[in-house]
Amino acid sequence: MIACTIEKLLAYAKHHLSLEEIDEIYVRNKLMQKLKVSHPYKGKINEEEIKNMLVPDLLIQELRDYLEKTNLVASEEINLFITELMGAITPMPSAVINKFNSFKDKQDAFNYLYDLQIKNNYIQKTAVDKNLLWVANFKDKYLEISINLSKPEKKNTDVAKLLQKSNQDEEKYPQCLLCKENLGFAGHLNHPARENLRFIPISLDNTPWYLQYSPYVYYDQHCIVIDAEHKNMTMGKDKFKKLLDFVDIFPCYFIGSNSELPIVGGSILNHEHFQGGKHLLPITKAQNELEFCYEKYDKCTLSYLNFFNSTFKIESNDKNQILLLMTEIYEKWYSYNDLEAEIVAYDNEGQHNTVTPIVRKVGNTYIAYLVLRNNRTSEKHPEGIFHSHREFHNIKSEGIGLIESAGLYILPARLKRQLSEIEKILCGEHNKLDEFIKENTDFEIHRQFINELIQRYGTNNTAEFAHEMVISGVNEICAKILENSAVFKHTPEGTKQLLAFVNYLKN
Ligand SMILES: [Zn+2]
Repeated sequence: MIACTIEKLLAYAKHHLSLEEIDEIYVRNKLMQKLKVSHPYKGKINEEEIKNMLVPDLLIQELRDYLEKTNLVASEEINLFITELMGAITPMPSAVINKFNSFKDKQDAFNYLYDLQIKNNYIQKTAVDKNLLWVANFKDKYLEISINLSKPEKKNTDVAKLLQKSNQDEEKYPQCLLCKENLGFAGHLNHPARENLRFIPISLDNTPWYLQYSPYVYYDQHCIVIDAEHKNMTMGKDKFKKLLDFVDIFPCYFIGSNSELPIVGGSILNHEHFQGGKHLLPITKAQNELEFCYEKYDKCTLSYLNFFNSTFKIESNDKNQILLLMTEIYEKWYSYNDLEAEIVAYDNEGQHNTVTPIVRKVGNTYIAYLVLRNNRTSEKHPEGIFHSHREFHNIKSEGIGLIESAGLYILPARLKRQLSEIEKILCGEHNKLDEFIKENTDFEIHRQFINELIQRYGTNNTAEFAHEMVISGVNEICAKILENSAVFKHTPEGTKQLLAFVNYLKN
């Protein structure tokens, strides 16, 4: 019945992926060739059902069932092959770009591309919807916390190694996951298939870039904006200019960049890229803690946020002046030292001070956030002084990048199962904790967290209460991790250190 599935895929492509009538015969032949079918199905299919599909899951399941029963492709290659088929029913990149550019309203254009990437299974929406997401409210600010079930957990040491390795390996094709050569790439067991990826070329500061969506979808319409060239992440004026250019073209999205240094950067440091999207992250709702007067930049307002980390906010209608002020803060911070605050800009390990920039535009006003970062390590904090401290690594040990700095936590998938087991402990199950941990060694990292919860709440709780307390424990840790990342703490002493930097900035 695979011939029937081919007809369903064609009907699906007509209704959801703008397959043109003239292309239908051509695409049918392609699918028949790939699936080794000699004659098309002549019977009827339930077109109404296909028209109402929000995601292609049912069709993909049909394909998967068929491929598992036959030996058309090896079992480990089934996912790659399904992506190839979904790519075959997706319009060519140029057709997608033309359609995207035909929308007057930029948000309509984004909605079109985002929907296309869901409908052709590049974004696997059903899996994404299974991710857990909640809001953690604190007195006068909040965080968003998500457990992402599809993103692999990476170690910081691996990120640094990857950077080194990929810089040596010039033969690799595509050189990395972000390179434009991924467009239509068949993939293999160590590299995802990307036949169903479509991206939009854009120009930032007169250089070629690409906009595409992230398959992991950390938040609504999570896009990645990628330099056409494969080169290492940078920081500074050129980057700030591109971010400001981006919100001129697409004021409906925010845009930000990870720092270029390990520990404080993201998981990919070897290809220059930004991340943006429709969702407004918690940092954009934070109130001002301090406001500064800075005569030299009379068209900008400069404030310091009441947020967990150390963030300056600049607002201005003057693009050039906000660019100059962003650059000045970055450049002054780049070489700033404060030994009492453990801030050393540069030593024999290399550069340590940098920023994580985020930009939005509201009406004619540019708003820039600069999170001050430092990636030094010490004997006491070998993973980073301004990084998640070791006692919190059970929740998150990965780099605190752009997204977390902006208040959205992406926690590893393992926590879904682990937290629910910890809830059971608070309800009296697994009452011999030592034995439980001995049998389930992955809980060793949670020992302190579990003991603290037991001390506070005992082990005789209802499931509902236990769940609330575990979540609230995770919330507290997430706030503390972001406070760990603050170069100036939100304490009287930290404020004094901050004011010293502001003083240095103005002189
Ligand atoms: Zn690359």
